[in-house]
Amino acid sequence: MLNVPSQAFPAAGSQQRVAPAGQSRNKVVLKPGHSLLDWIRLTKSGQDLTGLRGRLIEVTEDELKKHNTKKDCWTCIRGMVYNLSAYMDFHPGGEEELMRAAGIDSTDLFDEVHRWVNYESMLKECLVGRMAVKPSPALQAHTEKTESTHLNGLSAPPSLRPEPLSAPLPAKDHRPRYDWFQTDGTVNIVVYTKRKIPSAGCAVVDLQDDNLRVEMLLGRMSYLLYWRLSSRVQDHVDVQTAHSVGKVQLCLRKSVKEKWTQLGQSLEHHDTFIQCKDRGLFYRECVLLSKTDVTHNTQLLRLQLPPGSRMQVPVGRHVYLKTSVQGTDVVKPYTAVDQMLIPPSQSSAEVGSDIHLMIKVYPDGVLTPHIANLPIGASLSVGGPEGSLTLRVLRDVTHLYMLAAGTGFTPMARLIRLALQEFTVIRKMKLMFFNRQERDILWQSQLDELCTKEERFEVQHVLSEPADSWTGRRGRIDACMLQNFLERPENSKCLVCVCGPAGFTESAVQLVRQLDFSEEELHVFQA
Ligand code: NAD
Repeated sequence: MLNVPSQAFPAAGSQQRVAPAGQSRNKVVLKPGHSLLDWIRLTKSGQDLTGLRGRLIEVTEDELKKHNTKKDCWTCIRGMVYNLSAYMDFHPGGEEELMRAAGIDSTDLFDEVHRWVNYESMLKECLVGRMAVKPSPALQAHTEKTESTHLNGLSAPPSLRPEPLSAPLPAKDHRPRYDWFQTDGTVNIVVYTKRKIPSAGCAVVDLQDDNLRVEMLLGRMSYLLYWRLSSRVQDHVDVQTAHSVGKVQLCLRKSVKEKWTQLGQSLEHHDTFIQCKDRGLFYRECVLLSKTDVTHNTQLLRLQLPPGSRMQVPVGRHVYLKTSVQGTDVVKPYTAVDQMLIPPSQSSAEVGSDIHLMIKVYPDGVLTPHIANLPIGASLSVGGPEGSLTLRVLRDVTHLYMLAAGTGFTPMARLIRLALQEFTVIRKMKLMFFNRQERDILWQSQLDELCTKEERFEVQHVLSEPADSWTGRRGRIDACMLQNFLERPENSKCLVCVCGPAGFTESAVQLVRQLDFSEEELHVFQA
């Protein structure tokens, strides 16, 4: 068992409480007896949470509007109406925030704050029924997303769609395209992304039975290819990337050596090029290969993707871990890291078959103790990847500053590696790393080693609960600390990246703005 400090869950400022960039969400301390686990217990208690004694009804828009008080709060998400009254005191963002959804279609609001939360499972006992009226245009747009969430998932087999959906073309034809060819034993799909691909790659491939799903994560955009293949192929998919020309080639091995007349039939959203945030989450079952202690309460998990999957998680993106706790799906985002801060280069054939995640175990949490107790060989559902970092923000940057607190270090870990290896224009890379105690510092020896090896890299540790023997900086983030740290030499282009608990992030963003850094010079990691 891990020796972990006691603390409330969701941890103050956990991802379940983090607001989207630039927005300030209410963070509340939940009353005792109102944790996520308590909510799950309540939903299993048989108590009538809708006031309808299990009946499902059709709700008109006028009816929905009437239920707009704390004691009687209905909301519509993707055409389904929920009574949120019982959930008020359990909502990590507070009742005030939940009341923004009262009596209205809150689909957009929900997506803005945390579309990854599995609300269908969390709120299933609060389901009042479905909207009776013709959905509004906003609702229609999201119905399409729901389809993709459901149909792209593991449980429901996607239906066939003869014609690909047409996505609006960007102004210039930057839209990727694909081609395919075959040999006696192989089928090869070539995707031309029309832009350079970073060394970490961009392809996420899932071959499940006869369905092949290929997603290219290109900055904020996602290009999807999705077929039911004409004939069976072997499990293993080989993915080769020609980074500088932006070409990704997939090689599938035919189960039977015969000529294919076509590649397959198109499935939902095949050949669409849309914003990543509008793409439904796709989950696959991974196997836990190993767990390594990073600190007294943080583990590095190595997960193996299924044989037909390859996932090249772009730098700074996160994946979602989903597990069932007492019959309720609990989902949480985790930023993918490498095995080490600067790992030895892998052979390209193996790239994308494993993912590494750093998991801090909160003893009163719902998901993390469950994960910590999973035996090697157990399976875990992994969705995504998702995230907002586009490498364009690093273009021409000469000074990269990182303000990280606790596990907020994880997106910085791959950023450091990428910046050192691929962005030679960066002259200085500085990490200010905030932790409670020295024993909480993630990858401390690797960071120190990198400092001695790499002239361009510097790390400063700040502890908020240091031992008397600590000779370094103490306290929490403040203006004075940042003033000297965030230097702006002449002819420099700076970027400040921030990640950590919500309270930390809010303070950091405020302080960085006060030091006259513009919005373009600031990137906040959020899940
Ligand atoms: P923690 O509670 O151990 O805190 C680490 C340090 O953060 C503290 O020592 C303190 O210096 C600072 N801090 C904490 N609360 C603060 C506040 N209110 N004001 C100013 N400074 C504060 O951190 P943890 O338990 O490791 O939590 C890390 C957080 O980072 C989690 O909330 C996690 O969700 C978030 N995170 C986000 C992403 C992402 O969005 N991509 C990735 C990883 C982690």
